[in-house]
Amino acid sequence: MDEERSPLRQLNEKPACHEPAEKSALSRLPVPSVKRPLPGKEQSAGQNSLRQPAKKRLLDQSDDKAPPNKRKMVSASVVGFKPRPPVMSQRPAVNPVYKTSAATVAGGPSRGAMKKPVAATSKPAAPSGVGAASRRPGWDLKGKMSDMQMKVSSYQEQVQNTKTQNRELREEAERARRELESLREEHSALLNKMRAYEMENQELSSLKRTLEMDLSRERALSAQRLQEVRELTQSNAEQTDKLHQGEMERRALHNTLLELKGNIRVFCRVRPLLDGGQQQSSFEIQPQDKTIVLVKTEESHIGKEKELHKYPFKFDHVFPPQCSQQQVFSEISLLVQSALDGYNVCSFAYGQTGSGKTYTMEGPDVLAGEEMGMIPRAVQQIFQAACKLREQGWEYQFTASFLEIYNETIRDLLVSNKTPKKMDYEIKRASPTADIRVTNLKYIPVSSEEEVLVLIKLAKQNRSTARTQVNDVSSRSHSVFQLRIEGKNAARDVSCNSILSLVDLAGSERVQKSQSTGDRLKEMKSINASLTNLGLVFSALASKDGFVPYRNCKLTYLLQDCLGGNSKTLMFVNISPEIESFSESLNSLRFASKVNECVIGTATANRK
Ligand code: ADP
Ligand code: MG
Repeated sequence: MDEERSPLRQLNEKPACHEPAEKSALSRLPVPSVKRPLPGKEQSAGQNSLRQPAKKRLLDQSDDKAPPNKRKMVSASVVGFKPRPPVMSQRPAVNPVYKTSAATVAGGPSRGAMKKPVAATSKPAAPSGVGAASRRPGWDLKGKMSDMQMKVSSYQEQVQNTKTQNRELREEAERARRELESLREEHSALLNKMRAYEMENQELSSLKRTLEMDLSRERALSAQRLQEVRELTQSNAEQTDKLHQGEMERRALHNTLLELKGNIRVFCRVRPLLDGGQQQSSFEIQPQDKTIVLVKTEESHIGKEKELHKYPFKFDHVFPPQCSQQQVFSEISLLVQSALDGYNVCSFAYGQTGSGKTYTMEGPDVLAGEEMGMIPRAVQQIFQAACKLREQGWEYQFTASFLEIYNETIRDLLVSNKTPKKMDYEIKRASPTADIRVTNLKYIPVSSEEEVLVLIKLAKQNRSTARTQVNDVSSRSHSVFQLRIEGKNAARDVSCNSILSLVDLAGSERVQKSQSTGDRLKEMKSINASLTNLGLVFSALASKDGFVPYRNCKLTYLLQDCLGGNSKTLMFVNISPEIESFSESLNSLRFASKVNECVIGTATANRK
């Protein structure tokens, strides 16, 4: 009996092993000893339980291998299984115990399992359930069934949990994957960035290397250039010194040359026959253009024979009628250069009215082109030369004045009003060291050739206006253009100043005294006086007289600084070629040759 009850005992002994308390309680219910188990279910249950090991095996196999629902089906089929009649020899031994306990025990757990499936499954079912099942007697099919169900539901729950977990894990994995992906993307972006930075870095370092190389090359070059510049500066300074010395030597040589030629030089210029002019008087200009011979056939004193008279005159140069303005100027340009070197230069045009004085000095009305006279050409040369000398450190300032002396009265030709106020013009030397100037006269600073040309035009205009008003005063007045030149070479601490005077003298023609009265006589006397005085000044200078009559007339007084030891003088004697001008030409040539005989003392430059 004890042996038979052992399964119960087993249950009683281990009530709280892995089973719920309820379940254990059920198992401990008293087993009815009188009540026989009903044939049928119990029987079959008992029979079933007799076959339990085999069935269990079958169930276990199906349990283990089949899915939970399948397993349910299997246990159902086990419940409805119709047993074969039991083997009699086995019946007494097993029946009483197995029947009762099977009936009671089977109802308990199964109900419990049915009633509280949640409680059963809420615990970690798999291990307890499995453990309980393994301890359950083979006949406790319901219990087993319940165990199975518990197991199944536990498994289901586990499966559900696993599924949930799985889903969660999947989600997590998905998140992780996404995160990984984004991290990967980020990583690859960073990698790309890093590569770009690396490349940039490489480029920058190569650029840096190039720049460093360039810099060092530049440094080397600049050092070399600096050296070159130093050398050049030195050689430049030497060159400038040499140039300056050369320039000074040139000036000295130039002066010597002019001295050899004579500080007073006379050029003769014969005007061409003008349209409608009469027959040309005979004159010869000999080779080398230095001598002019006037030839005239005159009646002999006896009155029957004709005699050929020749009047030769030798000058520094004789210009035949066909000579151009440029050819004439080329002979005086050396003299003009002297004005920039610090020598006073004075050029006169002497001759009878109409012989070409104004044409020679100023040119025709149009002050440009081939026919430009000596004044504009001289001005042009001076400005060009001054520009070149600037390279050697020379800075020049120029002042122009233009006046007219008529009947010993001065008139400013640079006054622009048409009816100028009567001004008192007085020739004065402001101080013993100052140059001679005319009070109230316009001395206009000029800085270009064009500016001077404008002034010459104005003077021309003023002279021609006067001509219409006062019966051609211009031919009976002297016009004096002066350009004051002040040069400074600050670097060498040298300065020089000089005056270039270009004078268009009044007509030298003599007028019969008997025919002259009034103003005309006065004019004639005045002109004669000034021209005579000019001759006297030259001869006084030539004879080195202590006294030079500069102040005898306004012209010589005004030109005092430009006539004498400190100046170079050039006289043009203009000749009209017509036969009727013969005697005037002869007079002019005689006067000029007297001037030519004068040798004025050595000129010295006005240098400080
Ligand atoms: P002056 O001033 O001596 O009275 P001009 O210079 O007025 O004489 O000249 C008189 C005229 O002769 C002017 O019409 C001038 O143009 C002309 N003439 C003078 N010399 C020359 C020359 N070398 N070539 C051409 N024409 C000349
Ligand atoms: Mg004239």
